[in-house]
Amino acid sequence: MYLFEWQDKRNKFRYMKICSKCSELKPLEMFAKCKANKDGLQCQCKQCHKQHQLDKKEYYQQYRKEYLSISENKERHYSNTKQHQSDNREKYKSVSSQWVKDNPERHKQGVKKHHQDTTLPYHIVYLLPDHNYVGVTNNPTYRMSNHRKKGFNRNTNNWTELARFDDREDALKCEAEYHTKGYEGKKSA
Ligand SMILES: [Zn+2]
Repeated sequence: MYLFEWQDKRNKFRYMKICSKCSELKPLEMFAKCKANKDGLQCQCKQCHKQHQLDKKEYYQQYRKEYLSISENKERHYSNTKQHQSDNREKYKSVSSQWVKDNPERHKQGVKKHHQDTTLPYHIVYLLPDHNYVGVTNNPTYRMSNHRKKGFNRNTNNWTELARFDDREDALKCEAEYHTKGYEGKKSA
């Protein structure tokens, strides 16, 4: 249900809606979107909805787990998520860069933790076939994300492991050999 409330400051009307849970009259931005409803908004205000989800947290976690355990659902879920992210790339970027600005310490810790987690006890000599690029890393996730960054724009989809070594020096020697002779006998550019 929509109602109007006079706003003194801007001297304008604005739309309001009554929350079905707390029965308070609240401005529309306090309601999350919901396509299933006629007015396109949820019946409960964001605050009540959040409280409801907190109360039912375990139920929702279990439900999500069961839902995603079916491979068909999982595929649909991740392809929808991916689509939404690529449709709203700018929005996601600005939200995440704002979060980094607001939480510099937590960001630092997160990066550190992530890198420790993905650092391997050995060194990989890898190839990016699309670029005939051979390199060495003990942290493929981080290294590939760097390759994809602006300025490099390398395609890392088909990266392959050529060899692995316990010692970084040995890996670098192997890399140098590849640089001289090229991949599969081709001279590298
Ligand atoms: Zn409410």
